Amino acid sequence: MALLTLLYITFLAGGLIATMSRVDSQLLLTQLTSLLGPEIVKGDAVSLEAYSHDATPLFRGLAEVVVSPRTTAEVAEVVRFAGRTKTPIIARGAGSNLCAATVPLNGGIVLSMVNMNSILEISKSEMIAVVQPGVTNLHLDTEVGKEGLMFVPDPGSRSVSTVGGNVATSAGGLRGLKYGTTKNYILGLEVVLGTGEVIRTGGRLVKDVAGYDLTRLLVGSEGTLGIFTEITAALVARPHASKYGVGYFDDLTSASIAVERIMGSGILPSTLEFLDNTCIAAVEDFAHLGLDVKAGALLLFGDHGDSPFVDSIVQKMAEIASGVDGCREVTLAPDIAAAEALLYARRCSLPALARLGTLSILEDISVPRPLMAATVTGIEKIAEKYALLIGTFGHAGDGNLHPTIVLDKDDREAVQNAERAMAEIFTLALEMGGTITGEHGVGSAKLPYLEARLGTVQMSLQRSIKTVFDPHGILNPGRLGS
Ligand SMILES: Cc1cc2nc3c(=O)[nH]c(=O)nc-3n(C[C@H](O)[C@H](O)[C@H](O)COP(=O)(O)OP(=O)(O)OC[C@H]3O[C@@H](n4cnc5c(N)ncnc54)[C@H](O)[C@@H]3O)c2cc1C
Repeated sequence: MALLTLLYITFLAGGLIATMSRVDSQLLLTQLTSLLGPEIVKGDAVSLEAYSHDATPLFRGLAEVVVSPRTTAEVAEVVRFAGRTKTPIIARGAGSNLCAATVPLNGGIVLSMVNMNSILEISKSEMIAVVQPGVTNLHLDTEVGKEGLMFVPDPGSRSVSTVGGNVATSAGGLRGLKYGTTKNYILGLEVVLGTGEVIRTGGRLVKDVAGYDLTRLLVGSEGTLGIFTEITAALVARPHASKYGVGYFDDLTSASIAVERIMGSGILPSTLEFLDNTCIAAVEDFAHLGLDVKAGALLLFGDHGDSPFVDSIVQKMAEIASGVDGCREVTLAPDIAAAEALLYARRCSLPALARLGTLSILEDISVPRPLMAATVTGIEKIAEKYALLIGTFGHAGDGNLHPTIVLDKDDREAVQNAERAMAEIFTLALEMGGTITGEHGVGSAKLPYLEARLGTVQMSLQRSIKTVFDPHGILNPGRLGS
């Protein structure tokens, strides 16, 4: 909390930038340039400013150098140099994370992985892809799609976010309910450790239980245990058909009952998403899709697979939803354009809400699914207490909620209230048996709340693990393992 407060004050004071030099910045730049060449080492003000923030509002910090390696050997060279000079390294993909995971709060080297952006192999028979970390999620999915395959993780940021960033955050998305998230699809990694050593974990095997599962440990490690330089991902067969529908409900409680009944019927849909009334109104105002703005909650449901099967599953979901007290209307998208419009309604929730203020803070908690409606009611009470506008949307099937606070960035009291509200929302999630982040990660933004989730013993274990992988403490310091 103290850290957050300091950062907010820093922001309000006019974007004062936190730097902590260990060796002289100019010397760092000169030495790295002579090691790696000027093409991939930048220290000019424009480059440093470009990497001073990510998608998280309120956090700012200035690196001393930005390095964009092209090979694993160059990554290892930078890491060894950083170890010798005790310089922080912040690995970065697209910088689309929402937890200040890539803001260089302590200066140092931003290691931008975007130059390592090749798809090295797609094996249709093995259903795997081997890629460099800077490939974007959408590009990979598009390319494997040409082979009739699908890369499952589909974060809303997929057109820009990188596979390396997806792996480092174990990104989720709209398909998580049916298929799981990134952690379920990573078979092997090439990783540069904090010592500069290069290891390969796992591989292309479907089965391999030789030793501790370091691949699984590294997925979600947020750049604190190693830098991924090559990723082997499992793919699935691309579904032939998809169908979507929308249900409107008087309130989220009735929408939640529909979710429980759908899941209880044995259906595992690919999509089960919700918007609260604030989000419905904001999206309608933004996208003019003809949504029922009087409804208390919108439930988007859908599935994909083979055509007749999908049609019957989605029809059954519609019938279940219609039978719930408080259901106002259920309609099925008659064609692809209508289905796309429905998916867009969910995907544009954030930009639609963001228009309502000059600052929007997208949060990410997970709770047991049956407690989702009670959690949203709790969030509404918190919004009322602090006189804040909070719209909540999310993955209803996963119990993963994205309460989004919209405010005026120049209203200092509102910003402080937003900070208090966030803290209460995390406490609420924990009281519900949930967690402080379902898919966005911890970064710097949520580190102050991590111990409440993990307890002291696990925090200590996490620090010990960090030391083994990164004995000099140079990889994304001040985040996980700190
Ligand atoms: C509009 C919007 C929608 C979003 N929707 C979703 C969503 O639906 N689901 C979801 O899970 N997230 C979502 N996100 C959050 C974010 O896009 C994801 O966390 C994404 O995986 C980050 O990828 P990136 O390439 O931008 O990584 P970055 O933001 O650059 O980095 C994220 C983390 O990965 C580390 N990292 C990056 N590359 C490497 C590497 N090669 N080796 C080691 N560590 C590395 C960084 O140090 C950092 O800790 C959304 C964000 C936005 C802005």
